[in-house]
Amino acid sequence: MSNPDTVFQRTNSVNSSIIEHLRSAGRLDRVFVDGEWVAPRGLGRASVIDPSTEEPVAEIALGTAQDVDAAVAAARRAYSAWSVSSAQSRALFLDRVHALILERAELFAQAISLEMGAAIGFARSTQVPSAAQHIRVASDNLVSYAFLTHRGDMAIMREAIGVCGLITPWNWPLYQITAKVGPALAAGCTVVLKPSELSPLSALLFAEVVHDAGIPPGVFNLVNGEGPEVGAALAAHPDVDMISITGSTRAGVLVAQAAAPTVKRVAQELGGKSPNLILPDADLARAVPAGVAAAFRNVGQSCSAPTRMIVPRERLEEVERIALEAAASIVVGDPRSEQTTHGPVANRAQFNRVQEMIGVGIAEGARLICGGLGRPEASRRGFYCRPTIFTAVHPRMQIAQEEIFGPVLAIIPYDSVDEAVEIANDTVYGLGAHVQGRDLGAARAVAARIRSGQVHINYPAWNPHAPFGGYKRSGNGREYGIEGLEEYLETKAILGFQDASTAPA
Ligand code: NAD
Repeated sequence: MSNPDTVFQRTNSVNSSIIEHLRSAGRLDRVFVDGEWVAPRGLGRASVIDPSTEEPVAEIALGTAQDVDAAVAAARRAYSAWSVSSAQSRALFLDRVHALILERAELFAQAISLEMGAAIGFARSTQVPSAAQHIRVASDNLVSYAFLTHRGDMAIMREAIGVCGLITPWNWPLYQITAKVGPALAAGCTVVLKPSELSPLSALLFAEVVHDAGIPPGVFNLVNGEGPEVGAALAAHPDVDMISITGSTRAGVLVAQAAAPTVKRVAQELGGKSPNLILPDADLARAVPAGVAAAFRNVGQSCSAPTRMIVPRERLEEVERIALEAAASIVVGDPRSEQTTHGPVANRAQFNRVQEMIGVGIAEGARLICGGLGRPEASRRGFYCRPTIFTAVHPRMQIAQEEIFGPVLAIIPYDSVDEAVEIANDTVYGLGAHVQGRDLGAARAVAARIRSGQVHINYPAWNPHAPFGGYKRSGNGREYGIEGLEEYLETKAILGFQDASTAPA
């Protein structure tokens, strides 16, 4: 089978307006604590690298453990009033945050594109609007949620858990922030956010939005910084009641270990290696291109990307042909070009990881049908990878087991549906999953056998109300929707609530 090189799109435009905005407003060298932009206690600095050029575009000030102390103290002070404020008043604040994100959508899109390389069209159409949706959903759920229910003579109260540390990754930088901050604030919690040090620009813009929405001082705090310093300080902090991390399984384990002595709640949203199980009766003309698109969405840098396409062996050749056609429509290139569908991967470590794993796939004997090692031919710099599809992948190969987090798809053939389900479940992860098939009853039965937090049948539209989270080493939390709100609530049972005179003395 031919292996055409990736189409590569160039532009010469460099959009620096986002950096000018943040610099002139004095955001880059500040943390946001107690409602004010203040200089951090340390002198640490980190460069923000444009992944399309490998050049630094800005420097941000890094916070320290003392900044975490100050932010947690502010959040603790703010908690007493915020946690008992009315649901309507908190919803009103969230509505303002939502409106401001949409009003500043272009700034956010530019920031995301610059800090992690998302194609500008994708940042505009998907990264920003879906991030705003998490705030919308949190507000809507808040006004209808029953914080007090009754069971016999007992009342069950759901109360804000307290001060929450929120640690987020770089891949969907704004989306991961709003998926935590929205429900946490809705629940009545106060928060200290530590975004990824690799994608801090959209987080700074988000702090501006929260400030401009008039949220009381201390309710939301932002401390930029490195994981082992700021993230670890938050995880271990005795006055933080809950820590929620989205990131690698490695970092999630470290956070849980640091948090353990204080017995705080730990919510982990971690890695994945999601299956896309194509049943024998599936319409391949639809199932395969959509599967390739889903695997390569956000350049494969999504925790729930379906990077294992599990297909009937007797239809393997047909699948390969359609997959190759689908990959040929991908335009890798400068994220600032409107023609680009896929920018570079987000950083050097990610580029090296993708290259290493493509090398592993070749060495393991998987058959390459497109892509491969190195950059697309027309690019000499930038963390550009070639959309890569391996076929005839054995389920125990490293490329079928490990999260790669880049544009690498493994096609794995099966001989029976039972074997396909076994392959789907045969990883340490269990985050997302897809099933394709014409017979909905059969597809549902297979969906029920897959061990993961979400299963999508025949590519339904994204639903921000659907709880999202992992089985196994993909984590233990649930985000989005009602379950995402409940993550930030404690449960209190008040017995004898209806007739206290019957309570024992
Ligand atoms: P990462 O684990 O390197 O970093 C994530 C965050 O954790 C960053 O803010 C980082 O600074 C922080 N961190 C790192 N070490 C830490 C430590 N010792 N203590 C406290 N905090 C620490 O992950 P990444 O490279 O930014 O993101 C990619 C990973 O995130 C992938 O594995 C992906 O699957 C996962 N992810 C999961 C979900 C989900 O919802 N399950 C969503 C997106 C990404």
